[in-house]
Amino acid sequence: MDTFTVEAVVLRTDDFGDANRVVTLFTREFGKLEANAYGCRRSRSPLCGALQMFNHITATLVHGTKVDTIREADIINFYDALTADLERLGYASLLFEIVNRMTLPRQSELETFELLTNALPALSRRNPQIAALIGACQFMETSGVQLNFSRCVHCGAELVGDAAISLIDGGAVCLDCVDAAQDCRPYPEGLRRTFETMLSFDWRDDTKLMFNSRQVNAAENFFLDYVRSIIGTNLKSIEFLQAIQMR
Ligand SMILES: [Zn+2]
Repeated sequence: MDTFTVEAVVLRTDDFGDANRVVTLFTREFGKLEANAYGCRRSRSPLCGALQMFNHITATLVHGTKVDTIREADIINFYDALTADLERLGYASLLFEIVNRMTLPRQSELETFELLTNALPALSRRNPQIAALIGACQFMETSGVQLNFSRCVHCGAELVGDAAISLIDGGAVCLDCVDAAQDCRPYPEGLRRTFETMLSFDWRDDTKLMFNSRQVNAAENFFLDYVRSIIGTNLKSIEFLQAIQMR
């Protein structure tokens, strides 16, 4: 039998049949990979505990003609706090949904795998909103769809102070170029500094996350508008976050 082993993070799960699950893995070796796990929702199944969303695992798969099958899975790390707290669950789901929607299967992206394994402990221990936004910002940067946050996309000037930003034009616009840009919105200096800090954030830095909550909310609103404009639909995790915030 043709088997192979991967190290992976469980990016998404979809139940089918009585006790089966389609598991979307983000692997260190091959990028995103979908595989079937038969019987894994039965509590007696040895796969049951390992194939839960957000787990960091090793898995052995069998090649299939259409889809691979997960034969064995072992937990490297799991994050209880993410399922015990609705806000953490919502923000972790947000980052995972963005990564899932914006990656193609079997395109190796080691940076994204490492980003997910770095973000998980932060999402479960630190401010989950900030951790998810840092993760999403850094993911967009490596996927090459990031807006330019620091330089004017029209004239290339390094921004000083307040400016404008345009989703259509691909990022920041200096005040001299505003008339030439399409659909600009305000881009205050504080928001720019928030994005710059998130992009350069080092996950090993364990000091307290120092962000102004007003700027973080502004960054979230802005960033989600941008993600929506790329993906073309609303994200399920956003609806979930809005529902828990209204309670
Ligand atoms: Zn300019």
